[in-house]
Amino acid sequence: MAKYIFVTGGVTSSLGKGIFAASLAKLLQSKGYRVTIQKFDPYINVDPGTLNPYEHGECYVTDDGAETDLDLGHYERFLNIRTSQANNVTTGRVYQTVITKEREGAYLGKTVQVIPHITDEIKRRMLLLGQTGEYDIVITELGGTVGDIEAQPYVETVRQIRWELGEHDTLICHLTLIPYLKSAKELKTKPTQHSVKELQALGVMPDILVCRTETPLSDDIRKKLALFCNVDIDSVIQALDVDTIYQVPIEMQGENLDTTVLHKLHLPDINPSNLDKWKEFLNKLHHPRGEVRIGLVGKYIELQDAYKSIHESFIHGGASNNVEVIVEPISSEHIDEDNVVDKLKHLDGILVAPGFGNRGIEGKIEAIKYARENNVPFFGICLGMQCAVIEFARNVLGMKTAHSTEMVPDTKFPVIDMMEEQKKIVKKGGTMRLGAYNCDLIPGTLAQKLYGSNHISERHRHRFEFNNAYLEQFEKAGMIATGKNPDSGLVEIVEIPSHPFFIGVQFHPELKSTVVTPHPVFVGFVKAAMQYKNNQKKTAEMKNAVVA
Ligand code: GLN
Repeated sequence: MAKYIFVTGGVTSSLGKGIFAASLAKLLQSKGYRVTIQKFDPYINVDPGTLNPYEHGECYVTDDGAETDLDLGHYERFLNIRTSQANNVTTGRVYQTVITKEREGAYLGKTVQVIPHITDEIKRRMLLLGQTGEYDIVITELGGTVGDIEAQPYVETVRQIRWELGEHDTLICHLTLIPYLKSAKELKTKPTQHSVKELQALGVMPDILVCRTETPLSDDIRKKLALFCNVDIDSVIQALDVDTIYQVPIEMQGENLDTTVLHKLHLPDINPSNLDKWKEFLNKLHHPRGEVRIGLVGKYIELQDAYKSIHESFIHGGASNNVEVIVEPISSEHIDEDNVVDKLKHLDGILVAPGFGNRGIEGKIEAIKYARENNVPFFGICLGMQCAVIEFARNVLGMKTAHSTEMVPDTKFPVIDMMEEQKKIVKKGGTMRLGAYNCDLIPGTLAQKLYGSNHISERHRHRFEFNNAYLEQFEKAGMIATGKNPDSGLVEIVEIPSHPFFIGVQFHPELKSTVVTPHPVFVGFVKAAMQYKNNQKKTAEMKNAVVA
């Protein structure tokens, strides 16, 4: 049977529970344990698929088509494993199950209550992955902060699981903040003491305290925290701010977190930790030999979390090319025909982001026109690919009013149109074309060379699609469909072979890039940006030489 580690958070939100959980999992995995992570979110949406990125950051999609919390992206990127619907549960999903069962008569004669019915359903889901036999350790991250009304059933379930399985098979890590008060020149432990009290009032005693702090914890502070929060002194773990999330496992190892956890769970600590590949990646990340500047053209640019996986994929793709990728967010709403050159001329590559709705569309199309006409490396993802198709239709094929029927339902040239199977769908939640689909690549094309394979599988999240009625016209004029779904014939990839690097993909490659396996299209795009930068430099030098 698997062992269960629970990660709770106190004092404030945004302490990085997801990164901590992923880092702990990485350390345990590096010692040979089979680990997975799941997240329980206390909100009432059944999944985050219906949430605006401003509310909840990016919606992460798994192979099995679940729309999930972005922390699952961290889990996959750190562990190089695949997660699924079972790895992300919300209050909405729990209640939906219980209410459906109630209507089916599963509780006939009984009053259905938070305790035991909701907590039983949470418990069933918390234990599920550990019962598959696939994992030695299951880490469960509880969303929200201890003390929130909506988090209570989850904390109560953790209490029950601990009571049932005992303290050798369960472990509770509590993440908290130790603020530094400048005026007093002191780190303050009181908020942590209060949040531990809050947990204890619910019957849960943390085993390990993980303390986020801007300055190192002295031995005195560690002792004080241990004494007042009722944990062992070596269970006070310092989590200093670091410049990259990928440094966190190394910091946690420095605090002996893995050893402490294995000891407390009565698990053998025999294998040396193998973090060679991780350290090699970190070394490249910390010692880049150059830099490239990529414009990320989108409409949610104020919030980094909205394009989380894209940012992380550039970190992986940059490290694998030994360069730092500076990603410059550019609001597509502020790009127009008159300012496009000024806004984009300093970039070595342009990525047009995924998205929904009309806002900022014309700016995206302008940016693509600029990239296409000036041989600037271009990478379009989902809506970004659709915009590349619209741009080509308008400016190369002369269909001046071409559009997607998402923006203009009665457009004369619907080059992007709703997929047939989507037309009858009325419910919004979980009804897009979601998850992994196969794609066949044409040998000799950019895509096929990048992937080094003729058959790939990538994850999707969309309702609209390239309109195959126009395909012949596009291909004659130089935009080729180089990747198609073998079953439906849907176009998954478009390219312009006469351009040095112009690729649009209907799927989301950013969801599959990990530290150990950076995504080939990101790797190739960064490389193309490096080449473009070098060529620009050479051209400038030649011009200077002629002038001299
Ligand atoms: N809005 C587009 C569609 O639904 C693109 C979606 C996306 O970029 N994820 O097809």
